[in-house]
Amino acid sequence: MNSQPLLIDSSLAISVRTSRRARQMRLVASIKGVEAVVPEGVSEERLQEFVQSKRGWIVRMAQHYQQVKERSGHEEGTLYFLGSKYRYHIVKDRLPSATISDSLKMITFHITDKRSYRKEIERWYKEQTARIISERLPQISSRTGLPYNKVSIKRQSSRWASCSKKRNLNFNLLLAAAPLQVIDYVIVHELAHTVELNHSKRFWQVVQSADPAYREHKAWLGDHSPAIGIESLGSVKS
Ligand SMILES: [Zn+2]
Repeated sequence: MNSQPLLIDSSLAISVRTSRRARQMRLVASIKGVEAVVPEGVSEERLQEFVQSKRGWIVRMAQHYQQVKERSGHEEGTLYFLGSKYRYHIVKDRLPSATISDSLKMITFHITDKRSYRKEIERWYKEQTARIISERLPQISSRTGLPYNKVSIKRQSSRWASCSKKRNLNFNLLLAAAPLQVIDYVIVHELAHTVELNHSKRFWQVVQSADPAYREHKAWLGDHSPAIGIESLGSVKS
């Protein structure tokens, strides 16, 4: 019964995962689909009964995440880099590296241990984001006259960036997934927080004067965040 698909109707299946730690049956919905988590020893009949009693919820969740997927163009084995969608594959190699083919829209990750490929991809994103931020942040800061203190690039699950009272800026390592204009907007947004630590009218005026098309850039983040792996359906939170 481990990780077997279970048919809800002719067009909808959920996955089933047996868990030693689970005390009772539960359902989890995400962009990957609906999954039933089942304690060991639960009969097929009880599982069927449970799933059929939650049928309405399962169908609603499947539809909701289908719409999220369609809106954001999510696919397995793909990732976003500078606003374009790439397919990627992993090859085992003696030294880690990544090669990007823009014509094929394909990224090949050469990694030493295939089991840690997620970490390797994360490290690659962090390098890309750090490089882009180190190029663009000083330029935008001097153009807008908005100074900052320290910069860090981190893994964050629900924010694109943040700014502290001490004017320290923090950027999500996945930021390199966004187009450059959108990355610039995130930089402008955080720099604007160095003078306005809120989202007041005055704050948005500062943003708009540095990025007149900021609404479009903010919308891009809203539409693509789930596919990129940022849980917040909003845009920049800080
Ligand atoms: Zn903000």
